Amino acid sequence: MDLTYPPEAEEFRVEIRRWLEEHLPQGWFEPGFAMGPDERAEFVKGWNDQLFEGGWICATWPTEYGGKGLTTMQGVVLNEEFARAGAPLRGDFFGDTLVGPTILQWASEEQKQQFLPGILQGRIAWCQGFSEPEAGSDLASLKTRAVLDGDEWVINGQKVWTTQAQHADYIFLLARTDPDAPKHAGISYLLVPMRQEGVEVRPIVQPDGSAEFNEVFFTNARCPRGNVVGGVNNGWAVAMTTLGFERGTSATTSHRRFQKELEGIVERAQATGRAADPLVRQELARAYSKVKIMEINGLRSLTGVLTGTSPAESYRGALGATNKMFWSEYHRDVMELAIDILGMEGQILTGTADTDEYVPGYGRHRGRPDYPVSVTQAAFFFSRSETIWGGTAQIQRNIVGERVLGLPKEPKVAGQ
Ligand SMILES: Cc1cc2nc3c(=O)[nH]c(=O)nc-3n(C[C@H](O)[C@H](O)[C@H](O)COP(=O)(O)OP(=O)(O)OC[C@H]3O[C@@H](n4cnc5c(N)ncnc54)[C@H](O)[C@@H]3O)c2cc1C
Repeated sequence: MDLTYPPEAEEFRVEIRRWLEEHLPQGWFEPGFAMGPDERAEFVKGWNDQLFEGGWICATWPTEYGGKGLTTMQGVVLNEEFARAGAPLRGDFFGDTLVGPTILQWASEEQKQQFLPGILQGRIAWCQGFSEPEAGSDLASLKTRAVLDGDEWVINGQKVWTTQAQHADYIFLLARTDPDAPKHAGISYLLVPMRQEGVEVRPIVQPDGSAEFNEVFFTNARCPRGNVVGGVNNGWAVAMTTLGFERGTSATTSHRRFQKELEGIVERAQATGRAADPLVRQELARAYSKVKIMEINGLRSLTGVLTGTSPAESYRGALGATNKMFWSEYHRDVMELAIDILGMEGQILTGTADTDEYVPGYGRHRGRPDYPVSVTQAAFFFSRSETIWGGTAQIQRNIVGERVLGLPKEPKVAGQ
Protein backbone atom coordinates (compact mmCIF):
# COMPACT_ATOMS: atom_id res chain seq x y z
CA MET A 1 0.00 0.00 0.00
CA ASP A 2 1.32 3.43 -0.94
CA LEU A 3 0.50 6.12 1.62
CA THR A 4 2.01 9.04 -0.30
CA TYR A 5 0.22 11.07 -2.96
CA PRO A 6 2.01 12.13 -6.17
CA PRO A 7 3.08 15.83 -6.38
CA GLU A 8 0.38 16.69 -8.97
CA ALA A 9 -2.28 15.42 -6.55
CA GLU A 10 -0.89 17.70 -3.84
CA GLU A 11 -0.95 20.66 -6.26
CA PHE A 12 -4.58 19.92 -7.03
CA ARG A 13 -5.25 19.74 -3.27
CA VAL A 14 -3.94 23.29 -2.87
CA GLU A 15 -6.21 24.46 -5.70
CA ILE A 16 -9.29 22.94 -4.03
CA ARG A 17 -8.36 24.33 -0.61
CA ARG A 18 -8.02 27.80 -2.11
CA TRP A 19 -11.39 27.51 -3.85
CA LEU A 20 -13.07 26.38 -0.64
CA GLU A 21 -11.52 29.20 1.38
CA GLU A 22 -12.68 31.74 -1.21
CA HIS A 23 -16.24 30.42 -1.54
CA LEU A 24 -17.36 29.14 1.88
CA PRO A 25 -19.09 31.68 4.18
CA GLN A 26 -16.85 33.83 6.32
CA GLY A 27 -15.93 32.19 9.62
CA TRP A 28 -16.62 28.67 8.33
CA PHE A 29 -13.23 27.35 9.48
CA GLU A 30 -13.34 29.04 12.90
CA PRO A 31 -14.20 26.94 15.98
CA GLY A 32 -17.83 27.27 17.08
CA PHE A 33 -19.05 28.43 13.66
CA ALA A 34 -22.80 27.76 13.40
CA MET A 35 -25.72 28.71 11.15
CA GLY A 36 -29.40 28.99 12.02
CA PRO A 37 -31.94 26.93 10.03
CA ASP A 38 -32.87 29.79 7.66
CA GLU A 39 -29.26 30.79 7.17
CA ARG A 40 -28.32 27.17 6.40
CA ALA A 41 -31.20 26.74 3.94
CA GLU A 42 -30.08 29.90 2.16
CA PHE A 43 -26.47 28.67 2.13
CA VAL A 44 -27.38 25.25 0.69
CA LYS A 45 -29.38 26.89 -2.10
CA GLY A 46 -26.57 29.20 -3.15
CA TRP A 47 -23.89 26.57 -2.53
CA ASN A 48 -25.27 24.21 -5.19
CA ASP A 49 -24.97 27.00 -7.76
CA GLN A 50 -21.41 27.70 -6.69
CA LEU A 51 -20.52 24.01 -6.90
CA PHE A 52 -21.99 23.86 -10.37
CA GLU A 53 -20.11 26.97 -11.50
CA GLY A 54 -16.88 25.58 -10.05
CA GLY A 55 -17.56 22.32 -11.96
CA TRP A 56 -17.25 20.24 -8.78
CA ILE A 57 -20.50 18.28 -9.04
CA CYS A 58 -19.73 14.90 -10.67
CA ALA A 59 -16.32 16.31 -11.57
CA THR A 60 -14.96 12.91 -12.67
CA TRP A 61 -17.56 12.70 -15.45
CA PRO A 62 -16.24 13.30 -18.98
CA THR A 63 -16.14 16.93 -20.11
CA GLU A 64 -18.55 16.31 -23.03
CA TYR A 65 -21.25 15.55 -20.45
CA GLY A 66 -20.49 18.53 -18.25
CA GLY A 67 -17.95 16.94 -15.91
CA LYS A 68 -14.39 18.13 -15.47
CA GLY A 69 -12.87 14.84 -16.57
CA LEU A 70 -10.90 14.54 -13.32
CA THR A 71 -8.66 11.52 -12.84
CA THR A 72 -9.49 9.02 -10.10
CA MET A 73 -6.75 10.50 -7.94
CA GLN A 74 -8.07 14.04 -8.44
CA GLY A 75 -11.57 12.81 -7.59
CA VAL A 76 -10.22 11.32 -4.36
CA VAL A 77 -8.40 14.54 -3.44
CA LEU A 78 -11.55 16.55 -4.21
CA ASN A 79 -13.58 14.32 -1.89
CA GLU A 80 -10.93 14.50 0.83
CA GLU A 81 -10.71 18.29 0.80
CA PHE A 82 -14.48 18.79 0.86
CA ALA A 83 -14.74 16.25 3.69
CA ARG A 84 -11.92 17.97 5.60
CA ALA A 85 -13.70 21.32 5.24
CA GLY A 86 -17.07 19.77 6.16
CA ALA A 87 -18.50 21.27 2.94
CA PRO A 88 -21.28 19.49 1.02
CA LEU A 89 -20.17 18.24 -2.39
CA ARG A 90 -23.34 16.87 -3.78
CA GLY A 91 -26.55 18.24 -5.25
CA ASP A 92 -28.95 15.31 -5.34
CA PHE A 93 -27.76 11.93 -3.98
CA PHE A 94 -29.91 9.82 -6.30
CA GLY A 95 -29.00 11.91 -9.34
CA ASP A 96 -25.27 12.38 -8.77
CA THR A 97 -24.45 9.00 -7.31
CA LEU A 98 -26.95 6.49 -8.68
CA VAL A 99 -28.95 7.32 -11.80
CA GLY A 100 -26.38 9.76 -13.28
CA PRO A 101 -23.51 7.23 -13.46
CA THR A 102 -26.00 4.58 -14.64
CA ILE A 103 -27.13 6.85 -17.50
CA LEU A 104 -23.48 7.53 -18.36
CA GLN A 105 -22.82 3.82 -18.62
CA TRP A 106 -26.00 2.56 -20.29
CA ALA A 107 -28.07 5.31 -21.88
CA SER A 108 -28.28 6.40 -25.50
CA GLU A 109 -26.64 9.65 -26.58
CA GLU A 110 -30.06 11.30 -26.78
CA GLN A 111 -30.94 10.25 -23.21
CA LYS A 112 -27.57 11.53 -21.95
CA GLN A 113 -28.20 14.92 -23.54
CA GLN A 114 -31.71 15.00 -22.11
CA PHE A 115 -30.98 14.06 -18.50
CA LEU A 116 -27.33 14.67 -17.57
CA PRO A 117 -27.34 18.51 -17.67
CA GLY A 118 -30.38 18.60 -15.34
CA ILE A 119 -28.61 16.25 -12.92
CA LEU A 120 -25.45 18.36 -12.90
CA GLN A 121 -27.34 21.58 -12.34
CA GLY A 122 -29.44 19.99 -9.59
CA ARG A 123 -32.58 20.85 -11.59
CA ILE A 124 -34.02 17.31 -11.49
CA ALA A 125 -34.70 15.64 -8.13
CA TRP A 126 -34.74 11.84 -8.38
CA CYS A 127 -35.95 8.85 -6.42
CA GLN A 128 -35.32 5.12 -6.77
CA GLY A 129 -38.27 2.82 -7.48
CA PHE A 130 -36.94 -0.70 -7.04
CA SER A 131 -38.47 -2.23 -3.87
CA GLU A 132 -42.09 -3.41 -3.73
CA PRO A 133 -44.16 -4.94 -0.91
CA GLU A 134 -43.28 -8.47 -2.13
CA ALA A 135 -39.92 -7.68 -3.69
CA GLY A 136 -37.03 -6.39 -1.53
CA SER A 137 -34.08 -8.74 -1.15
CA ASP A 138 -35.70 -10.84 -3.84
CA LEU A 139 -35.96 -7.84 -6.14
CA ALA A 140 -36.54 -9.91 -9.27
CA SER A 141 -40.00 -10.83 -7.94
CA LEU A 142 -41.23 -7.32 -8.71
CA LYS A 143 -44.71 -7.07 -10.17
CA THR A 144 -45.08 -3.47 -11.37
CA ARG A 145 -46.01 -3.67 -15.06
CA ALA A 146 -45.25 -1.38 -17.99
CA VAL A 147 -47.12 -1.91 -21.25
CA LEU A 148 -46.55 -0.05 -24.52
CA ASP A 149 -49.39 2.09 -25.76
CA GLY A 150 -48.29 3.82 -28.96
CA ASP A 151 -45.33 6.00 -28.08
CA GLU A 152 -45.75 5.67 -24.34
CA TRP A 153 -45.29 3.15 -21.57
CA VAL A 154 -48.30 2.78 -19.28
CA ILE A 155 -47.27 1.82 -15.75
CA ASN A 156 -49.33 0.10 -13.07
CA GLY A 157 -48.21 -1.19 -9.68
CA GLN A 158 -46.75 -0.17 -6.33
CA LYS A 159 -43.31 0.70 -4.98
CA VAL A 160 -42.41 1.04 -1.31
CA TRP A 161 -39.66 2.58 0.86
CA THR A 162 -39.12 5.10 -1.92
CA THR A 163 -36.84 7.68 -0.32
CA GLN A 164 -37.50 11.33 -1.26
CA ALA A 165 -40.38 10.39 -3.59
CA GLN A 166 -42.42 13.28 -2.20
CA HIS A 167 -39.83 15.75 -3.53
CA ALA A 168 -38.84 13.96 -6.73
CA ASP A 169 -39.37 15.10 -10.32
CA TYR A 170 -38.42 11.71 -11.75
CA ILE A 171 -38.24 8.13 -10.56
CA PHE A 172 -35.90 5.50 -12.04
CA LEU A 173 -37.99 2.40 -11.71
CA LEU A 174 -37.94 -1.26 -12.55
CA ALA A 175 -41.04 -2.62 -14.25
CA ARG A 176 -41.92 -5.95 -15.81
CA THR A 177 -42.21 -5.46 -19.57
CA ASP A 178 -42.38 -9.15 -20.53
CA PRO A 179 -44.43 -11.13 -17.99
CA ASP A 180 -43.77 -14.41 -19.82
CA ALA A 181 -39.97 -14.18 -19.63
CA PRO A 182 -38.02 -15.86 -16.77
CA LYS A 183 -37.91 -13.88 -13.52
CA HIS A 184 -34.69 -11.90 -14.10
CA ALA A 185 -35.44 -11.28 -17.77
CA GLY A 186 -38.41 -9.23 -18.94
CA ILE A 187 -37.64 -6.29 -16.61
CA SER A 188 -36.93 -2.77 -17.92
CA TYR A 189 -35.34 0.30 -16.31
CA LEU A 190 -37.60 3.32 -16.94
CA LEU A 191 -37.26 7.03 -16.24
CA VAL A 192 -40.74 8.20 -15.25
CA PRO A 193 -41.95 11.73 -14.45
CA MET A 194 -43.38 11.87 -10.91
CA ARG A 195 -45.56 14.93 -11.29
CA GLN A 196 -48.48 13.42 -13.16
CA GLU A 197 -51.99 12.26 -12.33
CA GLY A 198 -51.25 8.52 -12.32
CA VAL A 199 -48.64 8.76 -9.55
CA GLU A 200 -49.71 8.91 -5.90
CA VAL A 201 -47.13 9.34 -3.12
CA ARG A 202 -47.99 8.42 0.47
CA PRO A 203 -45.27 9.33 3.00
CA ILE A 204 -44.47 6.75 5.72
CA VAL A 205 -44.06 8.67 8.98
CA GLN A 206 -41.61 7.20 11.49
CA PRO A 207 -41.62 7.47 15.29
CA ASP A 208 -39.16 10.38 15.26
CA GLY A 209 -41.46 12.34 12.97
CA SER A 210 -39.36 12.07 9.86
CA ALA A 211 -40.93 10.78 6.65
CA GLU A 212 -37.97 10.16 4.39
CA PHE A 213 -39.54 7.31 2.49
CA ASN A 214 -42.91 6.65 0.89
CA GLU A 215 -45.30 4.29 -0.77
CA VAL A 216 -45.74 5.15 -4.44
CA PHE A 217 -48.77 3.96 -6.39
CA PHE A 218 -48.89 3.95 -10.21
CA THR A 219 -52.29 3.88 -11.89
CA ASN A 220 -51.93 4.23 -15.65
CA ALA A 221 -48.94 6.52 -15.17
CA ARG A 222 -47.07 7.28 -18.38
CA CYS A 223 -43.60 7.94 -19.72
CA PRO A 224 -42.27 8.28 -23.29
CA ARG A 225 -41.32 5.07 -25.10
CA GLY A 226 -37.73 6.34 -25.35
CA ASN A 227 -37.26 6.51 -21.57
CA VAL A 228 -35.98 2.93 -21.24
CA VAL A 229 -32.32 2.84 -20.21
CA GLY A 230 -30.11 0.03 -21.55
CA GLY A 231 -32.74 -1.58 -23.79
CA VAL A 232 -36.19 -3.12 -23.29
CA ASN A 233 -36.11 -6.23 -21.04
CA ASN A 234 -32.48 -5.58 -20.07
CA GLY A 235 -33.33 -3.76 -16.82
CA TRP A 236 -31.82 -6.34 -14.48
CA ALA A 237 -28.28 -5.74 -15.76
CA VAL A 238 -28.82 -1.96 -15.61
CA ALA A 239 -30.23 -2.16 -12.08
CA MET A 240 -27.20 -4.16 -10.91
CA THR A 241 -25.01 -1.27 -12.07
CA THR A 242 -27.07 1.16 -9.98
CA LEU A 243 -26.91 -1.11 -6.93
CA GLY A 244 -23.14 -1.38 -7.40
CA PHE A 245 -22.89 2.40 -7.14
CA GLU A 246 -25.17 2.38 -4.08
CA ARG A 247 -22.99 -0.17 -2.30
CA GLY A 248 -19.74 1.53 -3.28
CA THR A 249 -18.20 4.28 -1.16
CA SER A 250 -15.77 7.15 -1.45
CA ALA A 251 -12.72 5.08 -0.60
CA THR A 252 -10.65 7.43 1.55
CA THR A 253 -13.31 9.67 3.05
CA SER A 254 -16.17 7.45 4.12
CA HIS A 255 -14.62 6.62 7.51
CA ARG A 256 -14.47 10.30 8.46
CA ARG A 257 -18.05 10.76 9.52
CA PHE A 258 -17.68 7.74 11.81
CA GLN A 259 -14.43 9.09 13.22
CA LYS A 260 -15.98 12.46 14.02
CA GLU A 261 -19.06 10.88 15.54
CA LEU A 262 -16.93 8.52 17.67
CA GLU A 263 -14.93 11.47 19.01
CA GLY A 264 -18.23 12.94 20.22
CA ILE A 265 -19.23 9.65 21.86
CA VAL A 266 -15.86 9.42 23.65
CA GLU A 267 -16.21 13.02 24.88
CA ARG A 268 -19.65 12.18 26.19
CA ALA A 269 -18.32 9.06 27.96
CA GLN A 270 -15.63 11.18 29.59
CA ALA A 271 -18.09 13.87 30.65
CA THR A 272 -20.52 11.38 32.23
CA GLY A 273 -17.78 9.31 33.88
CA ARG A 274 -18.80 6.22 31.85
CA ALA A 275 -15.30 6.17 30.33
CA ALA A 276 -14.11 4.76 33.67
CA ASP A 277 -16.21 1.61 33.13
CA PRO A 278 -13.86 -1.09 31.74
CA LEU A 279 -16.62 -2.58 29.57
CA VAL A 280 -17.42 0.79 28.02
CA ARG A 281 -13.70 1.41 27.45
CA GLN A 282 -13.41 -1.95 25.73
CA GLU A 283 -16.34 -1.13 23.41
CA LEU A 284 -14.91 2.30 22.62
CA ALA A 285 -11.55 0.72 21.77
CA ARG A 286 -13.29 -1.83 19.57
CA ALA A 287 -15.16 0.97 17.77
CA TYR A 288 -11.93 2.93 17.31
CA SER A 289 -10.24 -0.14 15.77
CA LYS A 290 -13.12 -0.61 13.34
CA VAL A 291 -12.96 3.01 12.16
CA LYS A 292 -9.20 2.54 11.62
CA ILE A 293 -9.88 -0.64 9.64
CA MET A 294 -12.28 1.34 7.42
CA GLU A 295 -9.64 4.03 6.89
CA ILE A 296 -6.91 1.53 5.98
CA ASN A 297 -9.20 -0.49 3.75
CA GLY A 298 -10.10 2.72 1.91
CA LEU A 299 -6.43 3.38 1.22
CA ARG A 300 -5.98 -0.22 0.12
CA SER A 301 -8.87 0.06 -2.36
CA LEU A 302 -7.47 3.32 -3.72
CA THR A 303 -4.01 1.81 -4.16
CA GLY A 304 -5.59 -1.11 -6.02
CA VAL A 305 -7.41 1.21 -8.43
CA LEU A 306 -4.38 3.45 -9.05
CA THR A 307 -1.90 0.65 -9.58
CA GLY A 308 -4.28 -1.40 -11.67
CA THR A 309 -4.06 -4.26 -9.16
CA SER A 310 -7.70 -3.95 -8.20
CA PRO A 311 -9.40 -7.34 -8.17
CA ALA A 312 -11.60 -8.53 -11.03
CA GLU A 313 -15.20 -7.30 -11.42
CA SER A 314 -17.01 -10.04 -9.49
CA TYR A 315 -14.53 -9.95 -6.62
CA ARG A 316 -14.71 -6.14 -6.55
CA GLY A 317 -18.50 -6.40 -6.20
CA ALA A 318 -17.94 -8.67 -3.23
CA LEU A 319 -15.54 -6.17 -1.67
CA GLY A 320 -18.30 -3.55 -1.96
CA ALA A 321 -20.60 -5.98 -0.18
CA THR A 322 -18.04 -6.52 2.61
CA ASN A 323 -17.65 -2.77 3.08
CA LYS A 324 -21.41 -2.17 3.23
CA MET A 325 -21.81 -4.97 5.77
CA PHE A 326 -18.86 -3.76 7.84
CA TRP A 327 -19.74 -0.06 8.13
CA SER A 328 -23.48 -0.57 8.59
CA GLU A 329 -23.05 -3.14 11.37
CA TYR A 330 -20.34 -0.98 12.97
CA HIS A 331 -22.68 2.00 12.97
CA ARG A 332 -25.64 0.08 14.37
CA ASP A 333 -23.43 -1.18 17.25
CA VAL A 334 -21.75 2.15 18.00
CA MET A 335 -25.06 4.00 18.15
CA GLU A 336 -26.30 1.42 20.67
CA LEU A 337 -23.17 2.14 22.66
CA ALA A 338 -23.80 5.90 22.38
CA ILE A 339 -27.32 5.52 23.79
CA ASP A 340 -26.01 3.20 26.48
CA ILE A 341 -23.42 5.79 27.51
CA LEU A 342 -26.17 8.39 27.84
CA GLY A 343 -27.82 6.11 30.41
CA MET A 344 -31.25 7.31 31.58
CA GLU A 345 -30.91 10.43 29.47
CA GLY A 346 -30.85 8.22 26.37
CA GLN A 347 -34.36 7.02 27.20
CA ILE A 348 -36.04 10.40 27.42
CA LEU A 349 -36.75 12.80 24.60
CA THR A 350 -34.21 15.58 24.98
CA GLY A 351 -34.51 17.19 21.56
CA THR A 352 -36.41 20.36 20.87
CA ALA A 353 -39.19 20.91 18.38
CA ASP A 354 -37.17 23.47 16.50
CA THR A 355 -34.07 21.28 16.22
CA ASP A 356 -32.79 21.48 12.70
CA GLU A 357 -29.37 19.98 12.54
CA TYR A 358 -27.35 18.10 9.99
CA VAL A 359 -26.73 14.50 11.02
CA PRO A 360 -23.85 13.01 9.01
CA GLY A 361 -25.01 10.20 6.72
CA TYR A 362 -28.60 10.85 7.72
CA GLY A 363 -29.27 14.28 6.33
CA ARG A 364 -31.36 16.86 8.07
CA HIS A 365 -32.93 16.14 11.40
CA ARG A 366 -35.98 18.20 12.21
CA GLY A 367 -37.56 17.96 15.62
CA ARG A 368 -41.26 17.14 16.01
CA PRO A 369 -43.21 18.78 18.86
CA ASP A 370 -44.85 15.55 20.10
CA TYR A 371 -41.74 13.36 19.75
CA PRO A 372 -38.67 15.58 20.10
CA VAL A 373 -35.73 13.18 19.71
CA SER A 374 -32.20 14.50 20.08
CA VAL A 375 -29.71 14.31 17.23
CA THR A 376 -28.07 11.24 18.84
CA GLN A 377 -31.44 9.52 19.16
CA ALA A 378 -32.28 10.35 15.53
CA ALA A 379 -28.92 8.92 14.42
CA PHE A 380 -29.57 5.83 16.59
CA PHE A 381 -32.92 5.24 14.89
CA PHE A 382 -31.49 5.80 11.44
CA SER A 383 -28.57 3.44 12.09
CA ARG A 384 -31.10 0.61 12.38
CA SER A 385 -32.01 1.13 8.73
CA GLU A 386 -28.45 1.10 7.44
CA THR A 387 -28.10 -2.69 7.60
CA ILE A 388 -31.24 -2.83 5.42
CA TRP A 389 -31.17 -0.24 2.64
CA GLY A 390 -29.05 -0.89 -0.43
CA GLY A 391 -29.20 -4.64 0.31
CA THR A 392 -29.41 -6.13 3.80
CA ALA A 393 -26.34 -7.34 5.70
CA GLN A 394 -27.53 -10.93 5.20
CA ILE A 395 -27.72 -10.46 1.44
CA GLN A 396 -24.21 -8.94 1.46
CA ARG A 397 -23.04 -12.06 3.31
CA ASN A 398 -24.61 -14.24 0.63
CA ILE A 399 -22.67 -12.31 -2.02
CA VAL A 400 -19.39 -12.72 -0.13
CA GLY A 401 -20.13 -16.40 0.51
CA GLU A 402 -20.79 -17.15 -3.12
CA ARG A 403 -18.27 -14.93 -4.88
CA VAL A 404 -15.31 -14.93 -2.48
CA LEU A 405 -15.55 -18.06 -0.38
CA GLY A 406 -16.94 -20.17 -3.23
CA LEU A 407 -19.78 -21.55 -1.12
CA PRO A 408 -22.65 -23.25 -2.96
CA LYS A 409 -25.31 -20.90 -4.34
CA GLU A 410 -28.60 -20.63 -2.52
CA PRO A 411 -31.05 -23.26 -3.75
CA LYS A 412 -33.53 -21.77 -6.20
CA VAL A 413 -37.24 -22.41 -5.85
CA ALA A 414 -38.54 -24.45 -8.80
CA GLY A 415 -39.88 -22.32 -11.63
CA GLN A 416 -37.98 -19.16 -10.61
C1 LIG B 1 -34.06 3.78 5.07
C2 LIG B 1 -34.41 2.97 3.86
C3 LIG B 1 -34.48 3.59 2.63
C4 LIG B 1 -34.82 2.85 1.50
N1 LIG B 1 -34.91 3.53 0.30
C5 LIG B 1 -35.27 2.83 -0.80
C6 LIG B 1 -35.45 3.52 -2.05
O1 LIG B 1 -35.28 4.74 -2.14
N2 LIG B 1 -35.84 2.80 -3.11
C7 LIG B 1 -36.04 1.44 -3.07
O2 LIG B 1 -36.35 0.85 -4.10
N3 LIG B 1 -35.92 0.77 -1.88
C8 LIG B 1 -35.54 1.43 -0.76
N4 LIG B 1 -35.41 0.76 0.43
C9 LIG B 1 -35.78 -0.65 0.50
C10 LIG B 1 -34.63 -1.61 0.68
O3 LIG B 1 -33.89 -1.76 -0.50
C11 LIG B 1 -35.23 -2.95 1.15
O4 LIG B 1 -35.79 -2.72 2.44
C12 LIG B 1 -34.20 -4.04 1.25
O5 LIG B 1 -33.76 -4.42 -0.02
C13 LIG B 1 -34.77 -5.29 1.98
O6 LIG B 1 -35.97 -5.70 1.44
P1 LIG B 1 -37.28 -5.93 2.35
O7 LIG B 1 -37.44 -4.73 3.21
O8 LIG B 1 -38.39 -6.31 1.46
O9 LIG B 1 -36.89 -7.13 3.31
P2 LIG B 1 -36.95 -8.68 2.96
O10 LIG B 1 -36.30 -8.91 1.64
O11 LIG B 1 -38.36 -9.17 3.12
O12 LIG B 1 -36.03 -9.30 4.08
C14 LIG B 1 -36.50 -9.57 5.39
C15 LIG B 1 -35.37 -10.25 6.17
O13 LIG B 1 -35.04 -11.52 5.56
C16 LIG B 1 -33.66 -11.56 5.23
N5 LIG B 1 -33.49 -12.28 3.94
C17 LIG B 1 -34.25 -12.13 2.84
N6 LIG B 1 -33.78 -12.92 1.85
C18 LIG B 1 -32.69 -13.57 2.35
C19 LIG B 1 -31.77 -14.52 1.83
N7 LIG B 1 -31.86 -14.93 0.56
N8 LIG B 1 -30.77 -14.94 2.63
C20 LIG B 1 -30.65 -14.51 3.91
N9 LIG B 1 -31.50 -13.60 4.47
C21 LIG B 1 -32.50 -13.15 3.71
C22 LIG B 1 -33.25 -10.11 5.07
O14 LIG B 1 -31.85 -9.94 5.26
C23 LIG B 1 -34.07 -9.44 6.16
O15 LIG B 1 -33.43 -9.58 7.40
C24 LIG B 1 -35.08 1.47 1.59
C25 LIG B 1 -35.01 0.84 2.83
C26 LIG B 1 -34.70 1.57 3.95
C27 LIG B 1 -34.65 0.86 5.27
